Amino acid sequence: MSRIKIIPLQFAGVEVLEQMLPLISARFKIETLVSTHRMDLTPFFNPVRSQYNANDIIQKMVPLVDEGDKIVGVTDLDLFIPVLSYIFGQAYLGGSVALVSGHRLVNARYGLADDPKLFSERLLKCIIHELGHAFGLKHCLLPGCVMVSTTYVEEMDQKSDQFCRSCKIQLK
Ligand SMILES: [Zn+2]
Ligand SMILES: [Zn+2]
Repeated sequence: MSRIKIIPLQFAGVEVLEQMLPLISARFKIETLVSTHRMDLTPFFNPVRSQYNANDIIQKMVPLVDEGDKIVGVTDLDLFIPVLSYIFGQAYLGGSVALVSGHRLVNARYGLADDPKLFSERLLKCIIHELGHAFGLKHCLLPGCVMVSTTYVEEMDQKSDQFCRSCKIQLK
């Protein structure tokens, strides 16, 4: 029986993740749980960039996957991949592992008032987007679809946490 496992990796809001489980489970029609796996991300810190290397973390997560499962690491730490200054998340198309960072989803990062509800909406969109990739979906151009590629948090706020009709069909 396949499952989605969410792994908090130096992420403070585990209860935020727990609240999302029914939503994620319903979206992918697969059991979803928060895993008790833990991993130290210290070795992935790049002192020059003051960020953590997402590709290396994903590589390290691969052995944690049980056959047929998808796992999503969620962290508060700032992630990068070598070609980009930062990323909200990363997953390999059709792979088993996804990684999401809440670091740049917090309003305080942009000098705005704290908004826990908005943070959790953004985080949910990131998790569903990266899981979408893990389930084989590419980026979508239809405005509003969760699979639209986003570089800035404002763009994140313009899309929904839902798959468009075409992405939904492909997901099946
Ligand atoms: Zn993407
Ligand atoms: Zn779509």
